[in-house]
Amino acid sequence: MHIVVTGGAGFIGSHFCEQLIARGDRVTCVDDLSSGHIDNIYALLGSPNFAFIEQDVSTGITVTGPIDAVAHLASPASPPDYSRRPLDTLAVGSRGTENALNLAYEHGARFLLTSTSEIYGDPKVHPQREDYWGNVNPIGPRSVYDEAKRYAEAVTFAYRRAKNVNGGVVRIFNTFGPHMRAEDGRVVSSLIVQALAGNALTIYGSGKQTRSFCYVDDIVRALMIMIDCDEPGPVNLGNPEELTIVELAELVCEIVGCSVPMTFHPLPTDDPQRRKPDIGYAQQRLSWTPRVSVRDGLQRTVRWFASRPDDVSAAAARLLHLRT
Ligand code: UDP
Repeated sequence: MHIVVTGGAGFIGSHFCEQLIARGDRVTCVDDLSSGHIDNIYALLGSPNFAFIEQDVSTGITVTGPIDAVAHLASPASPPDYSRRPLDTLAVGSRGTENALNLAYEHGARFLLTSTSEIYGDPKVHPQREDYWGNVNPIGPRSVYDEAKRYAEAVTFAYRRAKNVNGGVVRIFNTFGPHMRAEDGRVVSSLIVQALAGNALTIYGSGKQTRSFCYVDDIVRALMIMIDCDEPGPVNLGNPEELTIVELAELVCEIVGCSVPMTFHPLPTDDPQRRKPDIGYAQQRLSWTPRVSVRDGLQRTVRWFASRPDDVSAAAARLLHLRT
């Protein structure tokens, strides 16, 4: 198969490209490197089956030749990133998604949208099932991401109905692993960087808010299944192991083997209080369930960050100044 992956140099996208190449597919990665990094795909650049195009997908996608599938992963994804780049985030979720859908339409290709648990906003239903419509503030600082992804879902389903595009939607919950940007401000990367650097761990709010963290390999395995089938979704993808942020910080400290203090900072506006996927639909329709525990995944991720001491110390210094 020839698969176009937008955002293929990003955190999840690069692992996805790697797995597609490993199983013998041909991959064209389209990425503007605004939050992705060439290092993430460096090992793939030598492969005859891998092509990289540096392009902002919200302005167009110029890939030629037969295409079997288009997977649209491109977007800023960490809250500090999308808060800093609100218009880019709206553009890639709207025009970028339309460009990716048009490419799939022109080639009669399968289309996969990676949506997000953020479309549930600060959920009033727990755990979140796909038939919950969410509780999103349409004008708050997170709305640029949440509403762009909600629009992306809407336009994907409209292309299914109006143009017969074989589109599928997955809603990805908090994901972590190697290739996360050390300074992207997300909680897992921030806590690991701070613990490795011996700095205090920054906890926003009381730290009693929860998230459910999934190791990246599990998410990528589900994306492969979705590319290969005609399932429209939306399908929740995540690990239902729910932790408070303080529990996560304690686990990171235990794995790193450090005893640094936690410092408490104001909770960002509209920060969701609880988040946990109901993955019954993915289990039933995709025969998918996460295999890597949060502890195992964190151990692998800590090892990966620890092997990059320069990135960690540079990021630790920048995080000291980053407050959302
Ligand atoms: N958070 C934190 N310390 C940090 C970064 C984030 O306590 O250094 C909190 C954040 O306020 C949120 C949770 O951790 O409640 C998860 O944040 P993240 O940015 O990773 O992702 P989100 O799920 O909010 O998109």
